[in-house]
Parts: sequence; C-alpha cells; structure tokens
Amino acid sequence: MDSKIENIMHQDSNGEITYNGHTFYILYPNSGKSIEELLGYTAILIHAVHSAFASFTIQRLRSYKDAKMYLKPIYFINPSIDSGGYINSLIDGSIFNVNQLNSIIPNIEEILIRTHQLKNTESATYEASIITKFLTLAYTRGRKQVDPIPYQFSGINYSYAGISCNFEHSEEQKVFSILDKAEKDGLIQGEFYDKTHYCNKCNHGALNYRSVCPKCSSSDSLTQDIVHHFPCGNVGPISDFQNEFDDNLNCPKCNKVLRHIGVDYDKPSVLHICRKCDHKFQDFDVKAKCLNCEFDNELEELIEKSIKRYTITNKGENATVFGYLPANREIEEIPGTIRYSLFSNLVSLEIERVRVVGSKNNLAMIYLHNTTELVTKIGEDRRRVLTKEVVNIIKKFLRPYDLITYKNPSLMVLTLYDISIENASLLLEEIVDLLKKLLTDNIKGYNVLIDSRIQPIDIHTTYKTQISELTVGFD
Ligand SMILES: [Zn+2]
Ligand SMILES: [Zn+2]
Ligand SMILES: [Zn+2]
Repeated sequence: MDSKIENIMHQDSNGEITYNGHTFYILYPNSGKSIEELLGYTAILIHAVHSAFASFTIQRLRSYKDAKMYLKPIYFINPSIDSGGYINSLIDGSIFNVNQLNSIIPNIEEILIRTHQLKNTESATYEASIITKFLTLAYTRGRKQVDPIPYQFSGINYSYAGISCNFEHSEEQKVFSILDKAEKDGLIQGEFYDKTHYCNKCNHGALNYRSVCPKCSSSDSLTQDIVHHFPCGNVGPISDFQNEFDDNLNCPKCNKVLRHIGVDYDKPSVLHICRKCDHKFQDFDVKAKCLNCEFDNELEELIEKSIKRYTITNKGENATVFGYLPANREIEEIPGTIRYSLFSNLVSLEIERVRVVGSKNNLAMIYLHNTTELVTKIGEDRRRVLTKEVVNIIKKFLRPYDLITYKNPSLMVLTLYDISIENASLLLEEIVDLLKKLLTDNIKGYNVLIDSRIQPIDIHTTYKTQISELTVGFD
C-alpha cells in the first residue's frame, strides 16, 4: 500500500474501510452482519475468492426489497475466477485488493449521483416493485438496454439483470410476465434475440436433446455403415462384409474382395441398431429429456419462447425517475368493485343525503398484510382469481347498494349502509374470519394477517377526514 493511500484510508479489523469520504464494507463468507446492518455503507465489497459465495451474495443483495441495498454500488474484491456474464452484470466491477479503491471512486460517485435523481422508488404492487428494480438498476448504471444473458443456473436459460434474482429457480417463468407487463405499459421496447424451449411438464429450460430409437426411445444404439457392392448389387451393413482376420471387406454374396470405395463399392448411408429392442432404422427420433423432472419431451411438445432484448423507452426513463404507477387494471377488472375515485364521490354524496334524512351508515376497511408474499406464493393470476372470490364472499354480507373498492391491492374499503354500528361490527368480524379461513385453506404456508376497522359515518365531517382516520397506518 503506498503511503498516500495509507494516510487517507482507515481499515479496521472487521472489514470496515473509510476512504476518501466514503465507507466500505468487505463482506467475507463468515461475516455475521445482517443486510440491514449493511445499508449504511456507501459501497459493499464482496470477498469473491469463493465464487459460489460471491454469486449467491450478489443475487441476494440485488434482490433485497429496499432500494438502499439493491441500488448500492457493489464490487467483487479478489475474485478467483471470472464468474461469467450474468453475475458480472449484477456487480459494478472488480478490484483485486483495497489498494485499487481509488480506481472505483469515480464510478461509485456516478452511481450515487444517478441514484440521488430518483424521486420515488416505492411501488403499489408486487409486479410494479420488480419493474421498478429493473428500471432503476439500469438507470443508475447508465444502461439504456437490458439484454438476456445465457446463464446455466437459470431455470429459463437466460437471466435479466435486476429481475431474475428476485425469483426462485422454480418460478423464474414469472420473469416473462413481468417483462410483458412493462412492455405493454410502454416502459420498455422488446426486440427478438433468440428462441428457447421449455419442458412441457414443468416449464424448466434444462433439456438434454438426444437421438433415440423411433420404436422404444432408447438412446443406446450402434451405428454401422451400409455398403453397396456394385458388381453384384449387394447392399448390407458393413459387418456382413468384415472378417476377423484382416481389414479386407469381402462381399458375402459374390465372395469378391472390395477394392476401392467409389470404384467398385460405396457407402450410401448408415444403419442404426437399437441395443435395447434390436430395431434397425435409418433415421433417429430426437427427444428432449428434462433435467429437472426427467420427462422425455417430443420436440413438437416443447414450449417455445422468444427471448427478447429490451431498450428502455423515454416513458420508461420518466417512470424510473418519477416513480412507476402501473395502470390499476387488475383492480378495476374485479367484478363487484368500483374504482376508488368513484367510491369516494358516491360516499361523499351519501354523507350529503343522510345529513338531510338521517341514517345509520358505516365505513369499514380490511387490510391484508404480506400481499407481496402472497403473490410470490401463488402468482399474479391466481391472486386475481382469489381476489374475485374474496369480493363475492363479502358481497353476500352486504346490501345490494353497498359499495366496495380497492384503494391499493392490500387495502379494501367498503360501506355498510343502513345498519347499526354494533351489528355492522359483528358482520365485519364474521367477514374477516371467513377471509382468513379462505386464504389459509387455499395457500399452503402463507401467514394470513388481516387488520380491519369500522366506524360510523359522521355527517358533520368530510369524507376525506373520515377515510384518512379509518385507514391511518394502512394507507
Ligand atoms: Zn429400440
Ligand atoms: Zn458382391
Ligand atoms: Zn420437466
């Protein structure tokens, strides 16, 4: 270490370094620090001698929920091998020892400046949070294009920086629905890159293509040349022409010695003999055995998928900086619910009406915790189906003119009109119990946590005040 660096660098025994006004932490395999404890450092240096530790750790940090971590400058220090394309796309670079810290300072400061430009990294839905991660990671690194990178440990054969690390191996197919949604919303523009194939049974991409016997599908076979002897017209497998004593070929039909290929004989094709069923054939079948579930796919059964490379559009860049609000399509599409803005208007009108005639009206909310975990467990499509069912159940308890809305995917607000607050409270309790049962029965291992509140509608205050009282802490 040269003396100039020594003067301004301070390294303590547990991996903390202060240099040039920035704090670094060297993350060793035996580090006892939690991710939360790493949030405060300017940059993380992953000690990358063990490449398995290094690739596991970078994926874990980049998939962390908080932007303070997933956007952090992260480098490998002392990497033993080049980890390859996908892992390299997740790190900001490599250095061999702390003496090289100076070389990465400009890059770190650039990332910090661009991160500072982001106005909002919060997201309303699970899909939106993944899209935000993907877009902000690219933006803060000055990348306009995100390429699929072949990755042997990917369940779908290709990985995308900022998205793939958020999914378990078995659910990586969801990467496509996230990218499709971002493209549909105009944030990114896809361009054909390549085609890839997945197992028809389990969707996995690791396939072993091989030639098999068309009769019994065994891949154990012997291949022989077929010999055609011109003078007598005999055609047969080369083994019929061979002998045990020398390399000469003798025709079994006319007993002549075969002399020159192309002159008195040739080898027009080959013959395959299955070692399992003895079937003789000229053309193999090709099958693709899944290395995940061992299903032997016919080629035409395979699921074919176009892999795209994506360019971030101007709209996408705008959404990256100012925050991405997905169109609330899935919320509006739930039959039996209405848009939140309409709900607000109607309840405000109702407050005006009962000011004149008087009534027993109530406003309630139901808040479902861990909706992110829910989507991770069952996927966005099943969640939508389940949400419809939830609304149907609740409607059975309400009057036909009661209103239901989703303010966000976790927070439902509803009216319980023309019923005393005591009875309405009992009803709400019953609804919540039923929802808990529905979710517990339908989703294995999901920790169902529901909060609910109810209050009578007060004709002397505005809807706005009442709704914010009702949902305080949950909005
Ligand atoms: Zn066979
Ligand atoms: Zn012959
Ligand atoms: Zn499979």
